[in-house]
Amino acid sequence: MCGIAGVWNVKDAFSVLHDVLLGLQHRGQESVGIVVDGFKTIKGKGLVDTVLTEDKWEDAEKGIGHVRYSTAGSLEDIQPILAFTKKGRLAVAHNGNIPNADKWIDLLHEKGAVFQSTLDSEIFLHLISMNEGDLKSSIVKALKKVPLAYSLLILHEDFLAAARDPYGVRPLFYGRFDEGVVVASEDSALRAIGVEEIEEVPPGTIVFFTTEGEERIKFGSRGKKFCSFEFIYFARPDSHFMSQSVHIVRYRMGEELFRENPIEADVVVPVLDSGLSGAMGFSNASGIPLDIGLMRNRYVGRSFIMPANREKIVKKKLVPIEDVIRGKRVVVIDDSIVRGTTMGIIVKILREAGAKEVHVGIHSPPVRYPCFYGIDTARKKELVAGEHDVEEIKKIVNADSLFYLSLSGLKKAIRRSELCVACFNGEYFHE
Ligand code: AMP
Ligand code: SF4
Repeated sequence: MCGIAGVWNVKDAFSVLHDVLLGLQHRGQESVGIVVDGFKTIKGKGLVDTVLTEDKWEDAEKGIGHVRYSTAGSLEDIQPILAFTKKGRLAVAHNGNIPNADKWIDLLHEKGAVFQSTLDSEIFLHLISMNEGDLKSSIVKALKKVPLAYSLLILHEDFLAAARDPYGVRPLFYGRFDEGVVVASEDSALRAIGVEEIEEVPPGTIVFFTTEGEERIKFGSRGKKFCSFEFIYFARPDSHFMSQSVHIVRYRMGEELFRENPIEADVVVPVLDSGLSGAMGFSNASGIPLDIGLMRNRYVGRSFIMPANREKIVKKKLVPIEDVIRGKRVVVIDDSIVRGTTMGIIVKILREAGAKEVHVGIHSPPVRYPCFYGIDTARKKELVAGEHDVEEIKKIVNADSLFYLSLSGLKKAIRRSELCVACFNGEYFHE
C-alpha cells in the first residue's frame, strides 16, 4: 500500500507536499520520494520528516510525491519514477498493483522496452511512450489498456494529471488550495492543510490540471469495486470514502460484530490504534465498558513486516495495564487477523497480566485470500485463515473464544455494495 500526493500552481510546493505526505504517512513508511518543478527529485528510505528535510527545499509550484509501503527495494524502486519520452519528460506516482504485470512486462520487453526498476508502475510510462498521438491522448489510451489497480499521478511541465482505474479500487481526492490544486490519497490529508471544495476523482476518470484550468476525461467504467480494507484498517479514521466517515463505519462494524456474536464479559479492550473505533461500537452495542487495557508505545516501529523479532516488538509496543485486566473476562477487539502472530502475542500478554478469560473479536471477516490490488497482506499460505478454520485459529492464538464479523455484516456496516471483498471471498475481478 502507498500514499500519493500532488500539487499544481501552489506556492511553497515543497512544504505543501511535505505536509500532505506526512498526513499520508500511515500508508507507507519504507520510503519517500518527491519530484517538483524542473523535475528536481528527492528520494530516500524512511519517514517523510527524515527524507524531506527543510535544507533540501527550494522554490517550486508543482510536484508529485509518494510514500511507499513495501518490504524491500533499492533507491531506483522509490517512486515517483521519471522518464524521458519522445513526448516529453514525465514523472509518475502510483498507488495500487497491476495483477497481471508479468504479462505486460513480457509484452513490453518484446517490443524493446528496457525497465529501470522492478516497479509495475513503469508499465504506464512505456505504454504512454509507445502510443501514437499527442501526450494527453497517449496517456488516456494507456489507461484504457490497464484496467486495474491504480490511483495515479502524472507530472509534466504543462500539467498535473490525476487518474483512477475504472473499478475505483484505490482512493484519490483533490481540492482547491492557494491559486491551485492539491491531490491526495485521502481527504483527511487535504483537510489537515486547509484544502477546500474536496472532491473524489471518479473511477475510470483522469483529470488534467493545467494553467488554463481543469479537464476531465472519462476513459472507462467497470462498476465500482472500492477496497473494503481501506475502511477496515488502512485509512485514517478521520478520512471519508463514498461520503462515509471511516471512524463511523468502523464503529458500526463493532456494533454489528456484537449483534452477530453476543457475549458476556467484563471489559472491552481495543488493540490501539487500529481496533479503537470498532471496540467503541462493540462496547456501545453490548453495554460492556471499554477500557485501555493495552497501552500503545508510539515510538516502537511497525511489527507487521518484521517477522524475526515480532514478539519482542509487539510486547514493547503494547503494554498491559494490569489494573484493568486482572481477574476480568476480557474481550479484545482488533480490525483484522492476517497471519495471526500479533493476536497470539496479545492474548499471551493479556493472560500474563492476569485476565480470567480472553475473547477475541475481529471486526472484519477472515482474510482467506491474498490481495493482488495493492495491499501487502501475505501469500495464501501465510494467511492463517487461508489454511485454518476459525476453531483452529482460536486454538492457535490461544483464545477462550474467537469471532469475526460476517461478510454481510461488513457490507451492512459500510452501507455500500460497490466494494472489493476479494481477500474475504476469493472473487477476484482481474483476468
Ligand atoms: P498479523 O500478525 O499478520 O495477523 O497482523 C495483524 C495486525 O496487523 C492487525 O492488528 C492489523 O491491524 C494489522 N494489519 C492488517 N493488515 C495489514 C497490512 N496490510 N499491513 C500492515 N498491518 C496490517
Ligand atoms: Fe482491498 Fe482485499 Fe480487495 Fe485487496 S482484495 S483491494 S485488500 S478488499
